[in-house]
Amino acid sequence: MSLVLTEEQTLLKETAAEFVQEKSPVTHLRELRDKSDATGFSRALWKEMSELGWAGILIPEEYGGSGLGLSEIGVILEECGRTLAPYPLLSTAVLGASALALGGSDAQKQALLPGVAQGETLLALAHQEKPRFAPYDIALNAKATSDGFELTGEKRFVLDGHVADRLIVVARTSGSVGEREGLTLFLVDPSASGVGVSRTNMVDSRNAANVRFENVVVTADDVLGDADRGADLLDALIERGTAAVSAELLGLIQEVFDRTVTYLKTRDQFGVKIGTFQALKHRAANMFSEVELSKSITIDALRAVDEERPFRERVVSAAKARTSDTAELVTREGLQMHGGIGMTDEEEIGLFMKRAKAAEVTFGDGGFHRDAFAKATGF
Ligand SMILES: Cc1cc2nc3c(=O)[nH]c(=O)nc-3n(C[C@H](O)[C@H](O)[C@H](O)COP(=O)(O)OP(=O)(O)OC[C@H]3O[C@@H](n4cnc5c(N)ncnc54)[C@H](O)[C@@H]3O)c2cc1C
Repeated sequence: MSLVLTEEQTLLKETAAEFVQEKSPVTHLRELRDKSDATGFSRALWKEMSELGWAGILIPEEYGGSGLGLSEIGVILEECGRTLAPYPLLSTAVLGASALALGGSDAQKQALLPGVAQGETLLALAHQEKPRFAPYDIALNAKATSDGFELTGEKRFVLDGHVADRLIVVARTSGSVGEREGLTLFLVDPSASGVGVSRTNMVDSRNAANVRFENVVVTADDVLGDADRGADLLDALIERGTAAVSAELLGLIQEVFDRTVTYLKTRDQFGVKIGTFQALKHRAANMFSEVELSKSITIDALRAVDEERPFRERVVSAAKARTSDTAELVTREGLQMHGGIGMTDEEEIGLFMKRAKAAEVTFGDGGFHRDAFAKATGF
C-alpha cells in the first residue's frame, strides 16, 4: 500500500497551500485575536474558500457539493494547520455536512446542505459536556412531549457554536449518563427560545462556545437520524472529526518542524550556526522521524474512513494518538530550540503550541486514543 497522495489530492493541496498562505497566514489569526473579532474569522474569506469547493467536499453532488472524501478535505485541513487558519472546516464542512449527509432526511438535506456548500450556512456539533472528551457522557435531556421534545442541559467546547446557523445537539432520550444507547441527535436553531450561547476564549484564540438549553422545544422533524439510536451517527461523526483533526495537527507539526530547522540553520551562537551542534541535530532527527510516522498514519486513517475499512476506528485512534503526541513533542522542542524568543508573543512559534494544545484534546488526546486502541485490540 502506497501512503502518498494521488495526483488530484496533490493538486488540491497545492491550491490550498497557496490560498491560505496568501489570504490566511498566521498574522491573520493574530489580527483577529488582537481586535477580539466577534466572528473569529472573515465571512468573506469563508465564502471564497467555499467557492473553491472546500465547504462542499463531503456533500453529495445532488445537494450542491462535490461528493469527495475525507482524504480530500484532509489535505486542505493540513494546509490550514500550517497557517493556523481559523476557518469552520471542521465544524461545518466535516462534522456538520457529515451529520446531514449521513443522518439527514431528504428534506433536511435539501434545506441545509446547498447553503453549507455555498459558504452561507454554518453548522456546529454540540456534543461535549465535560472538560474531558467522553463521547457518551451525555446528560442533556430530551423529554418527549405530545408533538416533539424539550431539551434541557448544557454543552461545552461547541466549535464555531457562537456563529452557527444550526446546532446539531446530542441529547439523551433514554438510559443514563455514560451509556451508548439512548442518544438522539437534533437540529436546533440557536435563535429558538431557551437557547443561550456564550462564546469562550480558548488558549488557541479559536472559536468555540458554551451553549445552554432550557426547555427548548423541537419537533419530530428536527430529529437527525434515528431517535434513541443516535450513537451510530455520533460515532461516525467522531470518527470523521478525529481523522480530520489529525490532518490539521499534521500540518501544524510539519510547519513547526520546518520553521525550527530553518532557525537552527540561521541562528548564530558561539560563532557558528546552532544547528551545527550535535545535541540539536539529534533532537531534530528525532522530530523528523515522528513527523514522518505521523504523516503515514494520518493518510492511512483518512483513507480507512473513506474506504469504510473494517476496524478503521483503530487506525483513526492510532493517527490521533500519534499526531497528538508528535504535536506535543515538536511544539515543545520547537519553542525550546528557538531559545528566549520562542517565549515571546511576537514570535509565531508559540501560537502553534497553543493551537496544538487545543487540537490535542479535541476528540480525545493521545492517552484517550492509546487506551481506545488497546481496548479495541484486546489488551
Ligand atoms: C522568561 C525567561 C526567563 C529567563 N530566565 C533566565 C534566568 O533566570 N537565568 C538565565 O540564565 N537565563 C534566563 N533566561 C534566558 C534563557 O536561559 C535563554 O533563553 C536560554 O539560555 C537560551 O538562550 P537563547 O535564547 O539565546 O537561545 P539561543 O542561544 O538562540 O539557542 C537556541 C537553542 O539552541 C540551544 N543551544 C545553544 N547552544 C547550544 C549548544 N552548544 N548545545 C546544545 N544546544 C544549544 C539552546 O538551548 C536553545 O534551545 C530566561 C529566558 C526567558 C524567555
